[in-house]
Amino acid sequence: MALDPFTLLVLTTAMAAASALYLVAEWSSVRERSLLLWSAGFGIIAVGSTLALLRSSGHVLIGIWFSNGMLIGAHWLFLAGVAKFTRTRLPRAWWLLPVVWLAMLWLPGGPWWSRAMLSVQSLLIAVITLRAGLLLRPHGGALNVGAAQLRVVLLAHGLFYLAKAASALVPEAFINLASFGGAVILVSLVEGVMAIMLLAMSMTGTERHRREERIAQIAARDPLTGLDNRRALYLRAPTLLAQASPGSPGALLLIDIDHFKQVNDLHGHHAGDVLLVTLSDLIRGVLPPGALAARLGGDEFVILLRGVTDAAAQALGQDLREAFSQQAREMFATPEPVSLSIGAALFDRPDTELSQGLKRADEALYASKRKGRDRMEVEKVRPATAE
Ligand code: GH3
Ligand code: MG
Repeated sequence: MALDPFTLLVLTTAMAAASALYLVAEWSSVRERSLLLWSAGFGIIAVGSTLALLRSSGHVLIGIWFSNGMLIGAHWLFLAGVAKFTRTRLPRAWWLLPVVWLAMLWLPGGPWWSRAMLSVQSLLIAVITLRAGLLLRPHGGALNVGAAQLRVVLLAHGLFYLAKAASALVPEAFINLASFGGAVILVSLVEGVMAIMLLAMSMTGTERHRREERIAQIAARDPLTGLDNRRALYLRAPTLLAQASPGSPGALLLIDIDHFKQVNDLHGHHAGDVLLVTLSDLIRGVLPPGALAARLGGDEFVILLRGVTDAAAQALGQDLREAFSQQAREMFATPEPVSLSIGAALFDRPDTELSQGLKRADEALYASKRKGRDRMEVEKVRPATAE
């Protein structure tokens, strides 16, 4: 099968229609508006290329510039979809771009008109598409894999249209859009088919990867406090534990609220929840860079520190303890003081396992409770032979 313009247009129509349906199907499970905007863009391309097909096979329904101009609308929808994905508001001026194209239609015709029209149209598509690609810039965090792919495809597609805009002005370039003649048009049709495929794939990936990231975050996070949960702690702790050495020891602080039940019983479960959030905020406030904090469950929390001295770990624990008991006293009156008991385990070898560290910190925590609560007990580094 030769890649003649007719075949390429049939391919374009089929792929654009399939992409539109595919993105709608994706939207039905992901429910992100950007997918609908992108789908509508492909829908417009499918309709536009069908009109062009009918025209090229003799059924002239509408001027070729109209169906070709629909491409601008389609790319504009791609840009709108990217803006939705990146939560960016597009300035109003972007709405005026299609007006530039309409204004061109009213210009008096002439031998140069067709070239100028193709050039302006390509330029508009280039500007819209490059803007969409640039919107997918990583703001602070890294772009997800799908979004990074979409960015590359959009930028490449935009640059292609920029080159096409320039080539349409080259005097020798033979372009006859009405009969799809000329190398520029043929290359553009091939690029269009490839771009549709790559855009549809990376648009789907963009939303899928974001959803996967969200699911991973939900799975790792304690819903009440927003700290890591037990599962996330077990996943992340090994990297931190493996960094421990005699020159750069680590510390594991196991924290339990004293007489927490009294807050629940006297002030209600919601008050208990508020106190748990208060403690988690205090923990975030004292957490040094590179440390981990998690809520193990109930009123039990863990802080995992790296590169700390015994004294620094103790100071952090005592600061937290004092800040918490003061806040708890101000927030809820209870017969027994609501404070923190902390058990700490220090480790200076890279082979410490989290479960071992937790067990040792739990023994120290038990000692804190036994000695009257509102205190921190430290279990010293075990000598190598004792493990
Ligand atoms: P102790 O001083 O010995 O630590 O006693 P305590 O009163 O703090 O009680 P304990 O630590 O044994 O039990 C924790 C309680 O926390 C038990 C449970 O009812 C309550 N709890 C567990 N999860 C939640 C929660 O998400 N919200 C609230 N409000 N309470 C919770
Ligand atoms: Mg408790």
